[in-house]
Amino acid sequence: MMKIEKFTFGVGDRFAHQAKAQLRAFQMAAEKGIDITPVWNKSNREHLIVGSEPSSVKSAAEAAVKEAGWNKPWHVDADHINLDTVDRFITPSDFYTLDVAHFIGRPAPAADIEAFVSRHPELIGAVAIPGIEKPITTTREYVTEVASKYLAAAIAAGKIYKHIAAKKGAGNFITEVSIDETDSPQTPPELLIILAAIADEKVPIQTVAPKFTGRFNKGVDYVGDTAQFAMEFSDDLAVIAYAIEKYHLPETLKLSVHSGSDKFSIYAAIRDAIRKTGAGLHLKTAGTTWLEELIGLAEAGPEGLALAKEVYAEAFAHKEALCDPYAAVIDIDYAKLPLPAEVNGWSAKQYTDALRHVQSNPNFNPNVRQLLHVGYKVAAQMGGRYLKMLKRSEESISRNVCENLFDRHIKPLFLD
Ligand SMILES: [Zn+2]
Repeated sequence: MMKIEKFTFGVGDRFAHQAKAQLRAFQMAAEKGIDITPVWNKSNREHLIVGSEPSSVKSAAEAAVKEAGWNKPWHVDADHINLDTVDRFITPSDFYTLDVAHFIGRPAPAADIEAFVSRHPELIGAVAIPGIEKPITTTREYVTEVASKYLAAAIAAGKIYKHIAAKKGAGNFITEVSIDETDSPQTPPELLIILAAIADEKVPIQTVAPKFTGRFNKGVDYVGDTAQFAMEFSDDLAVIAYAIEKYHLPETLKLSVHSGSDKFSIYAAIRDAIRKTGAGLHLKTAGTTWLEELIGLAEAGPEGLALAKEVYAEAFAHKEALCDPYAAVIDIDYAKLPLPAEVNGWSAKQYTDALRHVQSNPNFNPNVRQLLHVGYKVAAQMGGRYLKMLKRSEESISRNVCENLFDRHIKPLFLD
């Protein structure tokens, strides 16, 4: 079976120009003794918005790997796919994020639920999990209730997995199951029951993306109770280690943190937990790189700055339409967005101060950052004009892309 490496970073490259700068950050990490495997991910939603084909992600990564002399593993993730969308990802991907969140709450057949509960008497009563202080105490009713909520999702994951395995050959790809894009977070006991159900479906799951407590808004910091997150994350790690043994899941199974970029206030908790337990981690950081493209453009000279301002003006004009598909993962206060006329008067420093994710900077504006995060469609519509400027601004963009990944993400998660 293709095994996932211990530490992996999902990286996004919406316009297929930043893979080399991203690799540079991983090379710098390797020089410091931390091996992180890049996984280029682009969801079906992003492909539809940009108008790109999944094969383009692999070609861009392949070219960058060659140019950078990267001789370690790397992967291409078919991110958030389902049975309807997976087929064009079969050839170019070797990593699949099976998104079964929309099956949560859909009832599975009553007989299936009953069979599941009867098959798993070990889930009922006091379940002692090493690493969790108090045993989890459950009742048959509780397990039935959780199974009613999640069994259909586990069965769906089994179907998508088998579909990919039939086309690609089992063992030739890495399987992630995501249940993060839903309304309520999963508790550690729920995660245990979900993993038991996924094991029953014979899905060789190597990463699982639950929804954690708190808000994981795109491109900005975590919003929520950081102490509660720390406890939940650590309990989830314990549940995973236990489920690997109990249900014979792949020993590489680890947590995946979606919308994981820029969550600076929980990185210390994640770092401490993985250090303490020796657990692995998959952290998705896709959109943060596109924002560094805008920062790099703004720093590249008057023409780049003008284009970066134009992206803002267009995004502002179409904010409702751009924000709509991302409603669950952004929180923008429209009243705190500067008018395009004001932004048009900004210097490069004013633009990058508002956008760059440095919270200690009083001019940082998380509303501007989130709007631009979902505003990549504007750049996609500029087509060749945008790509030409990307190439001309390569030096300042790649410097920012690399610095963001290394200084603000890799360092606090692995090196501090
Ligand atoms: Zn996700």
